[in-house]
Amino acid sequence: MSPNLVIVGTVALDDVTTPFGTVNRALGGSAFYGAIAASYWTSVGIVAVVGEDYPETGLNLLASRGIDARGLERSSEKTFAWTGEYSYDLNTAITRDTRLNCLLSFDPKVALHYPRPETLFLANVDPEIQGRILDQLSDRPRLVALDTMNYWIESKKEALLKVLRRTDLLTINESEARMLTGEFNLVRAADAIRKMGPKIIVLKKGEHGALVFYEGGIFASPAMPLEVVKDPTGAGDSFAGGLLGYLTRHAKLSPEFLRQAAIVGSTMASFCVSDFGVAGTKELTMDQISRRTGEFLDLTAFPRIDIGDRRL
Ligand code: AMP
Repeated sequence: MSPNLVIVGTVALDDVTTPFGTVNRALGGSAFYGAIAASYWTSVGIVAVVGEDYPETGLNLLASRGIDARGLERSSEKTFAWTGEYSYDLNTAITRDTRLNCLLSFDPKVALHYPRPETLFLANVDPEIQGRILDQLSDRPRLVALDTMNYWIESKKEALLKVLRRTDLLTINESEARMLTGEFNLVRAADAIRKMGPKIIVLKKGEHGALVFYEGGIFASPAMPLEVVKDPTGAGDSFAGGLLGYLTRHAKLSPEFLRQAAIVGSTMASFCVSDFGVAGTKELTMDQISRRTGEFLDLTAFPRIDIGDRRL
């Protein structure tokens, strides 16, 4: 059976240092984090490339989550490798090194394995690759979502703008939204992005949560205030995986579902940051997930307020 949600992006080996520890050659990558988070909500297929040095543990983990990896190519080069660091400001990753390796010659063939995905998530990867994927699909997916980062905004802005014109939903960090649009104010930045193509914009604000801009409204989802945060790597991709997994499961894009999906995204991101790599998201129970989502309800609920003679 063909998966409902197809995620294209990187599968990586990450060297990450945070104030709370260091991991080397940790299983990571935008598609990897996204697929694991989404797999709790819908059927997922992954399109990416790994090198000859990629460990079996990564493939076994995808299989353990029921993720369809027919679209995961194996190259004779080395796996894409990212080295990043965080200071106590866990919102900002400092990239120390990006070795594209097998990504340089990656020519993904989505249509071959998954000709008709309901949702296509073009996770963070070279925007030229993102564009080529869309070219391959004769039937446009119901929802095309895209993520990117400063690396690509700086190096391939034209290609990025081109693929944005064909995107319905963009997830992007606040600093990257500013970089992409030249607007400091986030409401204006979202407006400017809307003019570039996507009608739904998810602005990720790290430990301050996310803002979802849709036609006619804005929703603010907080991030869960956690006692233990170890590694923010992959939080954005886990958020997107949860959000898109939920939207795909329910096949609805109304404000109501977008708001619920943002809370689901925040739930998955909260598990992600609680441990290094995918340790926090790789084997959750639905009981743990629903308890955490309940905590979001508590965190955000407030009683009606009387202001003057008005009851809000
Ligand atoms: P985030 O969810 O934004 O923290 O993404 C973390 C993941 O992005 C890491 O696992 C990295 O392997 C991956 N990554 C880092 N740089 C890039 C890049 N230039 N393109 C695609 N993926 C990247």
